Amino acid sequence: MFKKEKTALVCGAGGFIGSHLVKRLSRDNYWVRGVDIKEPEFSKSTADEFIIGDLREKDFVNRVFDRKFNEVYQLAANMGGAGYIFTGEHDAEIISDSAIINLNVLNALKLRGAGEVFYSSSACVYPSYNQKDPENPVCSEDSAYPADPDSEYGWEKLFSEHLYLSYQKNYHLKVRIARFHNVYGPEGTWRGGREKVPAATCRKVAEASNPGRIEMWGDGRQTRSFLYIEDCLDGMRKLMDTPNFSGPVNIGSEEMVSINRLANIIINIAAKEITIDHTEGPTGVRGRNSDNRLAREKLNWEPRISLTQGLIPTYNWINKQVAKLKDRGI
Ligand code: NAD
Repeated sequence: MFKKEKTALVCGAGGFIGSHLVKRLSRDNYWVRGVDIKEPEFSKSTADEFIIGDLREKDFVNRVFDRKFNEVYQLAANMGGAGYIFTGEHDAEIISDSAIINLNVLNALKLRGAGEVFYSSSACVYPSYNQKDPENPVCSEDSAYPADPDSEYGWEKLFSEHLYLSYQKNYHLKVRIARFHNVYGPEGTWRGGREKVPAATCRKVAEASNPGRIEMWGDGRQTRSFLYIEDCLDGMRKLMDTPNFSGPVNIGSEEMVSINRLANIIINIAAKEITIDHTEGPTGVRGRNSDNRLAREKLNWEPRISLTQGLIPTYNWINKQVAKLKDRGI
């Protein structure tokens, strides 16, 4: 069973980042156990073992952590895009589901130990008061305090950062914390209400007639940066391989664009003539951008794939999904 050099446990292996991570670890010759409440939606997992179950259940988590793994990645969370986390309708489950998962995972790790433990935090921890100016958002790691995240999702991430760091301090775990900024790419959620803005916009453009129109929430002048999945995986691996540094550290892109610009890049890739109709809807903070100074200094990492380069395969993949559903009359 353990002929491969290293073992990894990936919680959330059925999700977007988790399923790509499993592929990367398999390629790097890890023996991988994937865990999730569901299998990956869009391609078969390459995990050596894939266990389906609910990480909110303590007994299940204890069964999954039945040995000491070289690396543990905790990516499981109740999450979604603006249409899911900013309406207020899901706040109690967002905050409690993920907090319970993190507590269960840490208590299992306290018993079993692990080589290194990765926790995926988020740019959503940064305070609203620093993200009011779309041209000059402040998102350096130390600007997270005094805390004022704009969602319960962000508050849970901040709380769980403290959980991981306190278990490191008191129970000698080696913890690594990344704050991801808007990760996108093929095989991410692209419909159903939990999709994020790059995937949602690709879907709208792919579904639109030519010439046609798409809807966008807000005035489109809010700014964000977006990180391509392969760059994200490189950043995670670098963080795991960097000794004596726990983070939290931003894993994001510094290529900040307005949401209008994002949509126009996608429209150009699709080579369609499309008009944007701005409507009321949840939009989050006015500006957000990754600040990669710490990542450059500590990890010697920065993204290599530009937004346009990353959106081409992403749009093409979503366009194919849209065509497939159309063929099936959905
Ligand atoms: P995702 O929703 O695709 O993956 C999360 C996975 O967790 C899902 O497959 C889901 O089924 C699983 N899960 C949720 N509840 C579970 C439970 N009770 N038991 C077992 N599995 C459960 O999200 P993702 O984009 O792959 O994100 C991975 C991690 O990175 C999450 O923690 C997320 O908060 C964080 N993050 C992601 C982004 C991003 O842009 N994608 C940005 C910041 C932070």
